[in-house]
Amino acid sequence: MTTQTSGVDNLDLFVNAQLQFKQALHWIDGIKEGIIDYLITPKRTIHVRFPVNMDDGSIRTFHGFRVLHNRVRGPGKGGIRYHPDVTSAEVTALAAFMTWKTAVVDLPFGGGKGGIVCNPKELSRSELRRITRRFVAELGDAIGPHTDIPAPDVYTNAQTMAWIYDTYDTMHPGQNNRAVVTGKPLELGGSVGRDEATARGSWYATEELLKLGVVPGLDSLDGATVAVQGYGNAGSIAARLFHDSGAKIIAVSDSRGGICNDDGLDPREVLLHKEQTGSVVGFPGSREISNSDLLVYQCDILIPAALECQITFANASGVKAKLIVEDANGPVTAKADKVLQDKGVIVLPDIVANAGGVVVSYFEWVQNLENQSWDLEKVETRLKKKMDLAVDQTVEKYRALLEKHKGGFNGSQAEPTLRDAALVGAIERIATVVLQRDIWP
Ligand code: NAD
Repeated sequence: MTTQTSGVDNLDLFVNAQLQFKQALHWIDGIKEGIIDYLITPKRTIHVRFPVNMDDGSIRTFHGFRVLHNRVRGPGKGGIRYHPDVTSAEVTALAAFMTWKTAVVDLPFGGGKGGIVCNPKELSRSELRRITRRFVAELGDAIGPHTDIPAPDVYTNAQTMAWIYDTYDTMHPGQNNRAVVTGKPLELGGSVGRDEATARGSWYATEELLKLGVVPGLDSLDGATVAVQGYGNAGSIAARLFHDSGAKIIAVSDSRGGICNDDGLDPREVLLHKEQTGSVVGFPGSREISNSDLLVYQCDILIPAALECQITFANASGVKAKLIVEDANGPVTAKADKVLQDKGVIVLPDIVANAGGVVVSYFEWVQNLENQSWDLEKVETRLKKKMDLAVDQTVEKYRALLEKHKGGFNGSQAEPTLRDAALVGAIERIATVVLQRDIWP
């Protein structure tokens, strides 16, 4: 049992990422202090400020950044978000998650993330295009197919990626530059299956986890009840895939609120309703609930697929699910993790659960470098293989850590979690490569 059941929660994603990392380190012996320092801090953060001509004739200065967290296993990989509140600390945490995630699914990448402080809802398409092009020009050779490879994130999309590619290609003529960015439109070298990849990956991972008997009282999706927070790309597709596997979707939400029906909601019909009305709220035959109610709704599986730091010390004790599948990045705080562990709630951590997105981004990168175009069956088969293996290895590590714990390793240390196991696997993989490459000079 754990001991940390009181205290004030910290809702800073960067602080939580560091707490998770330090927690996992308890399970690793023999790692040099200097290597820990190297792995916990970003390798490089580039800040750029640049002027852009606005449609009304004014000139505005924008602030953008790109964090390359680690690249010992390969080029940096991670999205670029456009948001008025994006900070370099948040992006640093997300870049670190990418380093661990690419290691967990064993991709030849490191971790990166970027952002521009702006409100896309208040910008025209041509303003967004000018902002994107100038940002890429400012980054220069800090991004590249073998350096650091951006992708879409919050409020950036395939069109943004097309502008990034086009700008980079103009700056580097006469070579195949498609692999500089993933999440591109299909016609420009994007991969089939990328849209569904995150949700599909989390579905494969959940099925594999249940098969391995890690979640007490839940061994298959058939008949399992599911609540989903967030009904965008990750949440709505996960709801459909889980439903099609026999699970009953009984509650979902978006930024405007939540709905429930214990007899089951049809995820396709709910999506149609959201497309027509702008929200899941008001879906015929459903009852309205708040987003906070949704997180503590009576269900077998809870899928947070919206924002970070949603399950906190304040509400974790109310969670009734047996399993939480983290489709979002960082939806559970470090303190909430402890409360959930004490309650016996299993958490399939983000760096495993939502890794399907970066796996198919990797497939896109490979196709671009080889001038190939895979079909959907090949993408999905390979994605399943990657996700199943990541879950198998994480569970194997988890069981090994449990044995270590029983054997009295590290004294009063609490039992390990799946998050600890996934992070330990990732850290060991990265540390091994650091030592193999050796410290230069
Ligand atoms: P999205 O923008 O498509 O959807 C987000 C959804 O969350 C929307 O339905 C929105 O209404 C809802 N939402 C916003 N605030 C909310 C709130 N307070 N309560 C409930 N719902 C709220 O985004 P997405 O691509 O589905 O990403 C969701 C999460 O998954 C993010 O944390 C993202 O980092 C993570 N993720 C996504 C991918 C991917 O490939 N899309 C990959 C890895 C991780």
